[in-house]
Amino acid sequence: MKELILAYQGEMALKGLNRATFESILMKTMRRRLGSLGEFKVYKAQSTLYAEPLDEAADMDEAFSRVQKIFGIAAVSRAAVCEKNFDAIARTAAAYLEEPLRAARTFKVSAKRSDKSFPMNSMEISQELGAVLLQAYPHLKVDVHHPQINVTVEVRDFAAYVHGGKQPGAGGLPVSTSGKAALLLSGGLDSPVAGYMMAKRGLSLCCVHFASPPYTSERARMKVLQLAKELSPWTGNLNVYVVPYTAAQEYLRDHCPQDLFTVLMRRSMLRITQALAPAEDAKAIVTGESLAQVASQTLMALACTDAAQNLPVLRPCIGLDKTEIVAIARHIGTYETSIEPYEDCCTIFTPPHPRTKPRLADVEAAEAAMPGLAALEAEAAAGAERVEIRL
Ligand code: ATP
Ligand code: MG
Repeated sequence: MKELILAYQGEMALKGLNRATFESILMKTMRRRLGSLGEFKVYKAQSTLYAEPLDEAADMDEAFSRVQKIFGIAAVSRAAVCEKNFDAIARTAAAYLEEPLRAARTFKVSAKRSDKSFPMNSMEISQELGAVLLQAYPHLKVDVHHPQINVTVEVRDFAAYVHGGKQPGAGGLPVSTSGKAALLLSGGLDSPVAGYMMAKRGLSLCCVHFASPPYTSERARMKVLQLAKELSPWTGNLNVYVVPYTAAQEYLRDHCPQDLFTVLMRRSMLRITQALAPAEDAKAIVTGESLAQVASQTLMALACTDAAQNLPVLRPCIGLDKTEIVAIARHIGTYETSIEPYEDCCTIFTPPHPRTKPRLADVEAAEAAMPGLAALEAEAAAGAERVEIRL
């Protein structure tokens, strides 16, 4: 039996003028994500994308799971294809869904006919197919409200499709339709979640990670690259810039007022990120900050951080509790890696009493008293190592 994947568009279907562009980006994304699994024919009709394996051996489980991670797709189903006549549809449904139908006690049939030349209407298809299935599987009962399986028939332009009900897609907007941003990626829980959330709104991403060897280890660096790898099924390919931050960070430690160290370091990180942004055409910075999570994430500290440079700073986790962030991290598959206990450069040299209400004037005065900082930041940016994470 021939199978394919149907991907139904979400929000973007409403986007009027942009629709054609969005759809072509979505098709490109789908081709790219499925490419390593064998040859797939990807095409679209009626706000639905079709991914049809041309390769008998294509891993459809993996293909389905990859399509479920493509932003811009509201729902996905894995369906059997058949001819547009009722007997073929009935035979296909009984055979293709045999296993779930045997396991279920209740079912219903939903039919949708977008090809209006098909001689039966949706209601007739549902009723007739329900009767056929009850005969083939006499243990089943119809339950239209809470069926264990929703046998679905879609009579479309090219063929009829039969499946066991739509599954949720990733939602959001196709990656890159909103432009590009630089994600500050640490080894923690928050920043991969922040990246996922902004990619969902159509941003493509590159990552910037600050490493301070020997205070931070090679294993901490590997952990961050692993997180980027785990994020990439959602975001697509990622370039990760690993910034050698030791010299700048030591300089800060040795020359700044202790209680302003954290906010000064964060400003410094953002300036370096701004310097890296043009090479990636990144127009914003994304961080995993969450209001009041730590001293550097109070309103005044965030205001001081923002003022360090000109790109907009997007903080999608700002209003989330840790438990909510953890739930998303589990959903996207970064949780287990994030909780591995490696050091991060943000937590070395941390003063015992960071100021929670820093004033911008004090912060700027402290920077004015560190004439060597700019050159060290420029060196750090120039020395960044670019690691390519490819799907
Ligand atoms: P995470 O927020 O990722 O769970 P965390 O809470 O320990 O880690 P914070 O010290 O709260 O990190 O830092 C806030 C944000 O700053 C992070 O979400 C991340 O965006 C950025 N950040 C922190 N450390 C680094 C780093 N070493 N390299 C790049 N960005 C970093
Ligand atoms: Mg955090």
